[in-house]
Amino acid sequence: MSVYDYDFFVIGAGSGGVRASRMAASYGARVGIAEDRYLGGTCVNVGCVPKKLFVYASHYAEDFHDAQGFGWSATEPNFDWTTLRENKNSEIARLNGIYGSLLGNAGVALHEGRASLVDAHTLCIRSADGSEETVTADKILIATGGWPFVPADLKGIEHAVTSNEMFHLETFPRRAVVVGGGYIAVEFAGILNGLGVETTLIYRGALFLRGFDAGVRTFVADELRKKGIELRFDSQIREIEKLDGGSLRAHLDGEKVLDTDLIMYATGRRPHVEGLGLENAGVELNEKGAIVVDDAFRTSTDNIYALGDVIDRVQLTPVAITEGMAVARTLFADAPTTVDYDTIPTAVFCQPNIGTVGWTEEEARERLGKIAVYESEFRPMKLTMTGGEERTLMKLIVDSETDRVVGAHMVGPDAGEIIQGLGVALKAGATKAQFDATVGIHPTAAEEFVTMRESVRN
Ligand code: NDP
Repeated sequence: MSVYDYDFFVIGAGSGGVRASRMAASYGARVGIAEDRYLGGTCVNVGCVPKKLFVYASHYAEDFHDAQGFGWSATEPNFDWTTLRENKNSEIARLNGIYGSLLGNAGVALHEGRASLVDAHTLCIRSADGSEETVTADKILIATGGWPFVPADLKGIEHAVTSNEMFHLETFPRRAVVVGGGYIAVEFAGILNGLGVETTLIYRGALFLRGFDAGVRTFVADELRKKGIELRFDSQIREIEKLDGGSLRAHLDGEKVLDTDLIMYATGRRPHVEGLGLENAGVELNEKGAIVVDDAFRTSTDNIYALGDVIDRVQLTPVAITEGMAVARTLFADAPTTVDYDTIPTAVFCQPNIGTVGWTEEEARERLGKIAVYESEFRPMKLTMTGGEERTLMKLIVDSETDRVVGAHMVGPDAGEIIQGLGVALKAGATKAQFDATVGIHPTAAEEFVTMRESVRN
């Protein structure tokens, strides 16, 4: 019998922590988990889930318009933020309850409070009411995720919000500025614009969505502009001023100013390690402030492990879940398991959505030299009767030598749904000939991926 209270204690009940704890318990370990804020983590509370609900909400503006082309008429649509926020809150509360039951049913003891390391086997858990308890564990997993980063030295930054606050706004803005050019910035720009907010996106570089396929990036920029989002590239805010009456003034480079009601920073997320007491247990961080782990997710301290956004590998929920399963299997099922980070499909829920898997055209060209690019651009069938101007882009990147498809990219409705399926094909090493031999489903947008015959570039 172990001398510790638990065989395994997890700090952070987000996607990775919950999965690791449940699986460890299913293998017979005595497991505890601590969470002080977001049961289910960022994804469930202030990330993927409520974001997607907001994306659905924001698309109705176009849907009401498009419906007229199909013979429907309705009175002027009207959006009510409070209804959306409260309905979203109820759904998230329901999911929090489900997470609690999942842990309970798996036999994982939930400690509601903030855990910090006292030493390599001892944790102090502080509850909201200030009470403290001490627990000990043989093995400890740190799964505390990330936290929005804002440039703290910017004058007036205290007037800006992050994605955390966007889900709970008391009043809904008429005008908004979103700063950043990554996933969160483009997704929220789309949400705000769809919900009727005059939206400006400010990005410091020449073109946003760094790391995505260049063709996808320019295509998305055009689509967002068509939908009415003002994109200001090569632009930076150097000061935020609060004006009398409550609105905000962004002072930009070149003495330009922009008045708005809300400024949201989506300038990345950093590992959430503050107050964890890592120094008490000798857990090392890298230069970006992320916990250093080996292939088995072991930190510099033998019995302490870490995964998810706090290790700064790939900041995606399904990756954290995969890592959680690997840790549990390795530690408690006698089945050493590593994670394969190759060919991870991903989606950005901007409007239209981006779905992508594998290499960009630029990466493929650099790595392989000889490639063939297949591309298709068209107006989605649904919009042919609505006057809608949104277009869809599909792109396949093929290794000319092996005929293997090394990248699939899409911008269009349900791109994430479509690319998820192609993710299996790419993971399995499918060739272009096998794509061509696959019969399409008609009429769909997805069938384009198996009917692109002529390459547009080599
Ligand atoms: P990203 O890292 O994707 O993007 C951060 C953006 O902020 C970049 O455009 C970056 O510019 C810019 N930036 C960084 N620092 C500054 C600064 N000081 N001033 C101005 N701009 C700055 O982070 P996000 O916050 O968008 O998202 C965090 C992570 O969460 C993502 O990496 C993603 O993995 C995950 N996520 C996934 C989603 C999904 O799967 N759909 C949805 C939301 C988040 P530059 O490019 O020049 O560095």
